Amino acid sequence: MFRVGIGFDFHRLKEGKKLVIGGIYIPDEKGFVAHSDGDIFFHALTDALLGAIGYGDIGELFPDTEDKWKNADSSIFLKEANRIVNTAGYEIVNIDGVIILEKPKIKPYREKIIENTANILKIQKNQIFIKGKTYEKLGELGKGLGAECRVVVLLKRKI
Ligand SMILES: [Zn+2]
Repeated sequence: MFRVGIGFDFHRLKEGKKLVIGGIYIPDEKGFVAHSDGDIFFHALTDALLGAIGYGDIGELFPDTEDKWKNADSSIFLKEANRIVNTAGYEIVNIDGVIILEKPKIKPYREKIIENTANILKIQKNQIFIKGKTYEKLGELGKGLGAECRVVVLLKRKI
């Protein structure tokens, strides 16, 4: 039996903040404004995993009102979501994500992000794909005021 999950995340970008996507530090003058590290890929992926089994969402499990999640490394959220999915009797078939960021380009970091995510989730690299997109300078996100991520995950029941 298969289950599919979708995740979405968004954070504002600001000068002097750190830009971390998929647990990989990306040097840029702007970074995420968030309670945790603002990792849009890990947040969207965490939500997709939890949503696929109807467990809840990232905000319920890790409230941004709690001090212990301040500046948290978002791999903690992802690891916990993966543990919940596995405990529920499911395993990941594949993950596909879109990172919408005006700059810098995601492609040079793609391999590192995929490798890091595969290590955290204990799956193969070929089960994960991500691509970068822009809003072609249109609107607020096109001006680089924020970045968003969309992720789809497919799970299957473990035999
Ligand atoms: Zn987030």
